[in-house]
Amino acid sequence: MIKNEFATYKLNRDVLEALTKLKYLTPTEVQRKAIPPALDNKNIVVKSKTGSGKTAAFAIPIVENVVWEENAPQALVLEPTRELAYQVKDEVFNIGRMKRIKVPVVFGGAPFDKQALSLKQKSHVVVGTPGRVLDHLQKGTLDISQVKYFIIDEADLMLDMGFLADVKEIMSYLPEKHTTMLFSATLPDEVDNLANEYMSDPVKIMIEDETVTQDTITQLGYEVENEEKFDLLLDVLYEQSPEYCMIFCSTREMVNVLFRQLKKARIRCGMLHGMVDQMERLTTIDDFRQGKFTILIATDVAARGIDFDTITHVINYDMPNAKETYVHRIGRTGRNGKTGTAITFINDREKRLQGLIEEYTNAKITMCVPKSREELQEKKQAFLQKQKIRQPLKAKKGAVFNKDIMKLSIGGGRKSKMRAVDIVGTICSINDVAAEDIGIIDVRDSLTYVEILNGKGKIVLDALQNKPIKAKIRKVRMTR
Ligand code: AMP
Repeated sequence: MIKNEFATYKLNRDVLEALTKLKYLTPTEVQRKAIPPALDNKNIVVKSKTGSGKTAAFAIPIVENVVWEENAPQALVLEPTRELAYQVKDEVFNIGRMKRIKVPVVFGGAPFDKQALSLKQKSHVVVGTPGRVLDHLQKGTLDISQVKYFIIDEADLMLDMGFLADVKEIMSYLPEKHTTMLFSATLPDEVDNLANEYMSDPVKIMIEDETVTQDTITQLGYEVENEEKFDLLLDVLYEQSPEYCMIFCSTREMVNVLFRQLKKARIRCGMLHGMVDQMERLTTIDDFRQGKFTILIATDVAARGIDFDTITHVINYDMPNAKETYVHRIGRTGRNGKTGTAITFINDREKRLQGLIEEYTNAKITMCVPKSREELQEKKQAFLQKQKIRQPLKAKKGAVFNKDIMKLSIGGGRKSKMRAVDIVGTICSINDVAAEDIGIIDVRDSLTYVEILNGKGKIVLDALQNKPIKAKIRKVRMTR
């Protein structure tokens, strides 16, 4: 039995088991400080950055305290961007996997009605962006009157994106008694005021950034004028042959241009910025995580908060516009005891900013001279060769749960008045199968999905071939 230090919080067996499967064995600093008061239903204000494990810091107490049997949402998590909403939903879902917690996610740019239908089903934790959450509240498709936990994540980014008014309006729909947890990378006055005004007696938890930049990151720079940047980028890619690389540009247009240029040079890459279609953005993030391509070009806002833990290189194709942004960008690499390289392209006018950054980080950016094409010839061939080989894809984090879970599709859904209890009743009548072997049930219009846990999928699949559900033999198939 693996020893899991999360056991000290006396968590439910299902929650602890999920954490162990996810290989969360030692709480991070923010988790050590935030989980105990959150479990005690205290209001908390946490200054902590992405990468610190802050999502689990609120997800663990929520999942622990949610009562499975209740139908109305018990927690509402607000995220400033759709990507973050999706990522956080996954984290809450994974931690709540063994407890069978349902976590619908709602954000703009995706069909409203579909979300409304999923909200109609049993939902424990709702994750969403403020605009769409408010929309659902106003149209009566989301009821938060039973919410016990309200989480405002990335509050400073909410503020920057102009969401504070929406957040306040959402609060007016909450019941009087609830616990609020506010997380923010920085605590500007407006965020502090929000906490003071709306949260009684919050426990304040400040996680200091270890150092402004870590010594696990090698910082290099190249002096280059704009028109030579692309050639330099190719040289840097050949020379460094990065395993996983993020390239930051200052505008969406530049991201587009660079994406096209790299594609033309037969370099596999993806791009992320605010104008990329919603579903495409989510796919891009997933593909990058799985290693379908290993170079991601992004703007700051689109990439903010998104967790990629394997980045070996960060390239500032365009110099960031502020020293804090520089630190934030390069902090994408050199995480979790790994080393990383940050490379910044600097033009003549940006040297002053370089000075400010070096002063702020108390570290020098080592300036390099590009190698000649002749010197790089061999490395270029090796790099391009590597581009042609498709590496095996990495498993998604939640995949650890799939081994013992089989998802079945059952003919019949809302239209034929199928309810979750009909399915549970039949499945529980199968020999050797009990209610705790049934996972999430998702009733759609004319189909129902049900997860069978604990490796019992095959038994259920076989039995349902000739066992009626609601007085009829149904088409039952394995979907995963
Ligand atoms: P976050 O700051 O919430 O974006 O989390 C950063 C990364 O750390 C995510 O990939 C989490 O899944 C991971 N993580 C969170 N808590 C732990 C933990 N206690 N042990 C190992 N990994 C963790």
